[in-house]
Amino acid sequence: MGLRTECAVDAQSVGGPEVAFPSGEDRPALGLGTFGLGEDDSRRAAEVRALRLALDIGYRVFDTAEMYGDGGAEAVLGAALADALRGGLPREQVFVVSKVLPHHASEDGVIATCERSLRALRLDHIDLYLLHWRGGVALQETVRGFEALQRRGWIRLWGVSNFDVADLAELSAVPGGKACAANQVYFSLTQRGVERELLPRQRAQQMPLMAYSPLDQGELVDHPALREVAARHQATPAQVALAWVLRHPGVMAIPKAGNAVHLRHNWTAQQLVLGDEDLALLERRFPLPRGPVPLAMR
Ligand code: NAP
Repeated sequence: MGLRTECAVDAQSVGGPEVAFPSGEDRPALGLGTFGLGEDDSRRAAEVRALRLALDIGYRVFDTAEMYGDGGAEAVLGAALADALRGGLPREQVFVVSKVLPHHASEDGVIATCERSLRALRLDHIDLYLLHWRGGVALQETVRGFEALQRRGWIRLWGVSNFDVADLAELSAVPGGKACAANQVYFSLTQRGVERELLPRQRAQQMPLMAYSPLDQGELVDHPALREVAARHQATPAQVALAWVLRHPGVMAIPKAGNAVHLRHNWTAQQLVLGDEDLALLERRFPLPRGPVPLAMR
């Protein structure tokens, strides 16, 4: 049976790789992004249905941000989660990630922003709260805000996004900065710079790297090299791109998928094992940069 076959999906039977957080908890290495959701009221019901389906399929990690749809993505996710939780899904099985914009990341700003996010998400806490990217607020102040949120029980873990090696070093030097639980960055077959230094450093600190845009926002899903590898496995190019990201220990991938077929295909990508020949072909077509490259951003 080919991987792309929809009926291969069974949330109970398809287990996937996990990543370990410094808190000691293991979470699935495949999650779901929500960028682009909550922007248009006429699509809202379909978006909630898609996220609800994702929960039925077995997705348990959800990535959102106050920025996406100006809170709209959090609201769509909140509606889907509320329905699943009402239906008996234990809250602790779900890992909800959201992000604060840099210009809201002052000590008071994170508290006001997190309160809005919790309301939109209809939750009493966020599992992992990230600084979306580095802005003008001193890191020490943002960390103090995150610590205050933890004391209130509004967030469990905090982390950052779009931080390169030097940013992480600066962060770990501020009081409390070593508690950073994750760094979310752009990582895909075409954006491999993080493999040189950032990923090994994060691994050494047991700080998961959350790979955003693992499909290059859809640009990778028709790539000829991926088609070639996919054909050997009766899979799709998107599944190959995801399997390649997921094979890196310490990496969590959060592709966004808005339709049922994509959600199912991506879920079954966890079962796809790339062989030596596949990896050699991908290495030739998507070589590791020879030297350090600036961190890519979308
Ligand atoms: P992505 O996940 O690389 O690509 C999403 C696109 O790929 C969508 O157009 C989706 O279409 C399509 N797609 C998904 N699965 C597919 C499949 N199996 N076959 C064909 N097409 C497929 O891009 P992304 O949304 O930029 O990144 C993922 C998530 O990372 C975001 O949603 C967001 O949560 C997070 N992110 C974070 C940052 C940051 O600064 N921290 C930046 C960018 C993204 P459909 O929707 O039609 O299924």
